Amino acid sequence: MTAIHTEQYPPSYYHSSLKYQQEYPTLAEAINADVCIIGGGFSGIASAIELVERGYNVVLLESHKIGWGASGRNGGQMIRGIGHELEDFRKSIGQQGIDAISAMGIEANKVVLERIKKYQVDCDLTMGYCDLAAKPKQMKSLEQDCKRLNNSDYTYEVKMLDKSELIKQVVGSENFIGGMTDMGSGHLHPLNLCTGEAQAAHTLGVRIFTNSAVKNIIPGDIVQIKTSHGQVNAKKVILAGNAYIGDLAPKKLPNISKKILPAGSYIIATEPLNDILHKKILPGNHAVCDMKIDLDYFRLSADKRLLFGGMCNYSGRDPKDIKAALYPKMLKVFPELAGINIDHQWGGMIGIGANRLPQIGHLTDNIYYAQAYSGHGVNVTHMAAKLLAETIHGESDRIKYFEQVKHFTFPGGKHLRSPLLALGMMYHKMLDRF
Ligand SMILES: Cc1cc2nc3c(=O)[nH]c(=O)nc-3n(C[C@H](O)[C@H](O)[C@H](O)COP(=O)(O)OP(=O)(O)OC[C@H]3O[C@@H](n4cnc5c(N)ncnc54)[C@H](O)[C@@H]3O)c2cc1C
Repeated sequence: MTAIHTEQYPPSYYHSSLKYQQEYPTLAEAINADVCIIGGGFSGIASAIELVERGYNVVLLESHKIGWGASGRNGGQMIRGIGHELEDFRKSIGQQGIDAISAMGIEANKVVLERIKKYQVDCDLTMGYCDLAAKPKQMKSLEQDCKRLNNSDYTYEVKMLDKSELIKQVVGSENFIGGMTDMGSGHLHPLNLCTGEAQAAHTLGVRIFTNSAVKNIIPGDIVQIKTSHGQVNAKKVILAGNAYIGDLAPKKLPNISKKILPAGSYIIATEPLNDILHKKILPGNHAVCDMKIDLDYFRLSADKRLLFGGMCNYSGRDPKDIKAALYPKMLKVFPELAGINIDHQWGGMIGIGANRLPQIGHLTDNIYYAQAYSGHGVNVTHMAAKLLAETIHGESDRIKYFEQVKHFTFPGGKHLRSPLLALGMMYHKMLDRF
């Protein structure tokens, strides 16, 4: 067995249970490619697979390790849907656009499920998800969703549960008044999915380079992508750095990094729970989210730890002690876990856009981007990758619905953007209380 050089991954439960051990070289020469992808998270790796499957010669450059960013640190919740209130975009995309993006929200899960099956990715996939309502207003909105899904051609079971059904079947907590289960959504080990997909891409011929941060991009018919020790000359480029992209986009082109705000989200993982405990707190092994703006999300891992996430942080500074911040929140939902050890704690950056619709499009004829999944990227990244590959291959123009929506540019540098978002979120949290 080859040694795993994972010292650059942030410590997390996922890092401790990483299964794919492929090591990739650092770029140290000048090479050519049809498409150069910058970023080795889901957006980048899934784009690489989509493109190599269509016959393109693909190079992928990653600053750190594959899945080092949000893709290898997230809650692992694969939840149907894209964006939040698609109705808000009616003016820009019309009914046709709303229908198309709604359908893509279902297709997105299908892309992930098919990918896992096709390449036999070992990532603890478990089907079953539940939205948790704590207020009658939230229950009403879930009832509408449930009706809409059951009247559509969605083939998975979706059903409403009242409080006692919820406690018996999904979450053993008094905090919620009901919920909606969706058996077409679920959970998985995101770092194993990302690194497993990278291994598949590599086997298909994608040239992957890690520890190869892109420093500069020079646009042109052939785009020059420069790292410290090498260069890729590519006919097309995909920017897939999301919240970690910094100011990489070429100067003189629209600055896509100003259209997202990086916000921190955090997770704790308990020690493995005994059968009595895990069957009491999450009897159906669903992934769950509550419906607050600043939501809590939690699920069991394959070895029956509780992975409890939340506490979105817009200040740009990680909390000093993630466990100290999240443990009381966990106990509020599950008081019976008092005294349970926390084995892992970690966080990562999500890219938030002002309107919370993913930003997928192109900056020039040959420079594309995908970002701003606003905390909902396990499936949507895969859909974005498919859209980018379809566009590059001239197979569909479905990307147009995303390009027709204008995205707010946050004024000022990162230091002003974060407080602005914090203010906006505080306002929404206040509304949340009513
Ligand atoms: C704590 C947390 C919990 C979350 N929970 C969920 C969840 O349960 N469900 C869900 O659907 N979504 C969740 N998300 C969001 C989801 O993880 C992201 O939307 C998704 O992973 C984004 O993927 P990405 O590939 O676009 O970005 P990332 O995974 O962040 O990857 C971007 C990569 O680009 C690289 N990069 C940046 N700049 C350069 C450069 N100059 N040169 C080379 N490489 C570069 C970075 O190193 C990084 O690896 C969560 C996010 C976090 C942080």
